[in-house]
Amino acid sequence: MGLWKRLFGSKPQSTPAAGRSLEDTRQSGYWQCQGCGSIHFKQEGLEVLAELQDLGNEVSGGSTCSECGTRHRVAEIASGKFDMQDSDELIAKALADPGNASWDRQRKQWSYRGKPLRGSTGFGTEKPRQLDVSRSSDGTPLFFTVHVGKEAVLHQDLAVVDEITGSVAEEVRNRGVVVPSMLFFSGFDHDSRPIWKIQEIRSWCRLAFERAPHLLTLLTEQTVDPVSWSLIETGEVQEDGAGNCTTAIDPMEWLQLLKESALACGEFLRELGMQEGDDWVEQWFLKRCSHVKENTQ
Ligand SMILES: [Zn+2]
Repeated sequence: MGLWKRLFGSKPQSTPAAGRSLEDTRQSGYWQCQGCGSIHFKQEGLEVLAELQDLGNEVSGGSTCSECGTRHRVAEIASGKFDMQDSDELIAKALADPGNASWDRQRKQWSYRGKPLRGSTGFGTEKPRQLDVSRSSDGTPLFFTVHVGKEAVLHQDLAVVDEITGSVAEEVRNRGVVVPSMLFFSGFDHDSRPIWKIQEIRSWCRLAFERAPHLLTLLTEQTVDPVSWSLIETGEVQEDGAGNCTTAIDPMEWLQLLKESALACGEFLRELGMQEGDDWVEQWFLKRCSHVKENTQ
């Protein structure tokens, strides 16, 4: 007989929350993306997080849907907020048999062998945010992280463009600063081509630029190049072995595009009443000009 048993009798296996049996507290093994409805397997780590949360710990971080790029707070996934309501067995069966499972985009509903699957409660009632803001320790916004999901790209959904424009405008009005956006396209991981060579992304960027030509000027240094290149013709992609891609670009065409965006951005900032807007745009454009020169020789 072990020491524990001698002292206390049977060791408790687990401590269910008051009023709930162990069976009730068991969560689904699957959660549903609130952006596109796709079903994801909850990794083991999430169950550990759920337990930590039950113990009253703060759980931070986000998880990005691999299909559409929508961000979900890990704490909310762990808490079971996005849990599928049908049994794990049924969902596993449906996922293993995609030919018999279908997603109805209009009704926001999965069905398997003609029968509806019960998804997460309240799916689609909250519009997921596509934009996160990173701030310095004193609260100053540094940049926005924006995820453009595959679903948005394929359905030419430009809601995120308005979200960027609106958020930038808010910061200009409140603090007089231009906060750049780091733009990511998610759900194209299986495609080995760089984003500016993927036709669907090119079409989306074209529409986004037509709607908001100031957008390019509002992107971070890392993202302005690939997005620009998806708006012009480029040559074959060359890899340098270190994972960096280069491609032949007509400098005049590139500059013309940047100039068009800079002019539109100047107007955008003037309309918002930003005094130094023109100077800011001019600085941006001069910097881009030397960058183009360096990269097209
Ligand atoms: Zn999704």
